[in-house]
Parts: sequence; C-alpha cells; structure tokens
Amino acid sequence: MINLVIIPLGLLAGWLVNYLSDVLPATRRFSQPICPQCGAVTPLADFLILRPCRSCGRTPSWRTYITQAVLFLGTTYIWLVPPKSLNFWLAYILLIYLGVVFVIDFEHRVILHGVSLTGTALGLVIGASIHGLSVALIGGAAGFGIMLLAYFLGEWFVRARKIDDVALGFGDVNLSGVIGLMLGWPLILFGLLVAILLGGLFSAAYVGLMLARKKYQAFSAIPYAPFLILSVIYVFYF
Ligand SMILES: [Zn+2]
Repeated sequence: MINLVIIPLGLLAGWLVNYLSDVLPATRRFSQPICPQCGAVTPLADFLILRPCRSCGRTPSWRTYITQAVLFLGTTYIWLVPPKSLNFWLAYILLIYLGVVFVIDFEHRVILHGVSLTGTALGLVIGASIHGLSVALIGGAAGFGIMLLAYFLGEWFVRARKIDDVALGFGDVNLSGVIGLMLGWPLILFGLLVAILLGGLFSAAYVGLMLARKKYQAFSAIPYAPFLILSVIYVFYF
C-alpha cells in the first residue's frame, strides 16, 4: 500500500537533514542557508529545488543529492515496513535526527551539544514509549557510562603513548547516552557491541588498506558515531 503522502514527507526529510547539516555547524541556530562558496544568502525556494547559487553559480554538493535520495528511500521504507516498536511519526523523526547527526559528524567530526540535547529529549520520548521511563533511564546511564569509561581509557592510552590524537570524542559519549535512552536496558549493551564490532572491523580494514599503500602513520581515532547510528537503525528498523 503506497500513499502519495509519502512523496512530500520523503522530500521534506531530505531537505531538513540538508538544511540542518548546512546551518547548525556554521551558526548553531536555524539561520538562513548561505552559499558555502560566496556567502550569498540562498532563498528558500532555490534551496528546495536544489538550484545553483544565483551569485556564483555553485551547484549543490554531492552530499545534498545523496542525503535527499537516502532520506527519501528511508521514509518510503518505514512507511512500507513499519518498525515493530515505533509508530510511523516517531520513526520518521528519529530517521531525520540520525541523518543530521551522521552528516554533521561525517563532515565536521563533531556532534554539537544542541544536537545531543535534542537527542536526549527525543531519546526520552522514544525510550519511555517503548520500555517505560525507568528502563530508558537505566539504558541511557549505561550507554553514557560505558562510553565515558572508554573515553577515559582512550585518553590514558593516548597520553601513555604520547600520541597527538584523541581516541574517542566526547560527542560519541553523549550520543551513546542518547542511544541508551532509546534502546533501554539491557538492549543498549547489544547496540554498543554492534557499534564496537562494526567500528573495529572498519578500522582493521582501513589500517590494512593504509599499510598496503604504505601510508599508515600512527594510531588514528576510530569514528564510532556512524556505527552507533547504524546499530540503532539495525535494532529499530530491521
Ligand atoms: Zn555562491
């Protein structure tokens, strides 16, 4: 059963993720989108139809198109195959939220505090509606606490070996707490395990590739946020 409502909803999800990923890292508020090349303000209508910049002619980046396509397909998917534990609207908002976290983390390697706070509110609503408030809160505390421990271990490791890098960003700790609220206790343990395994596999493949090309320098940070997001998507949508 496909409904025409899904087309505007799918487009809206992609626009929102692109818009928030453009403006939040730059201004930390819901400002007007500007052209990253010349700084001219992009009118809303131009932004919606992905029109090239009127003053310098810059076309929207490949990320804009990929985000639009992925969010459209994701929205269609949750409409056709509704998640067992979430109603459509919560699943839809969660999809947009995860999209924003993923794109900003991918492009800037940062999870903004405002985004983490919004996630805490969303995580509480989702977690409490599925498992009840106490299970959600214990899950959130476990997700935050386990990643905080990993964060301090990482700091200690980096300092002990005098490497100029961070093992784990604090944004990952916050995100893990948000995801703990959503998954609840003890499912957060499974979520973290999936994220750590995927992160480890990815890093091993990356190190192998860099060694093969004789480019591997030293210890570099494992990006956990994308894998935390993948594990939430796996638990909720599949
Ligand atoms: Zn421009």
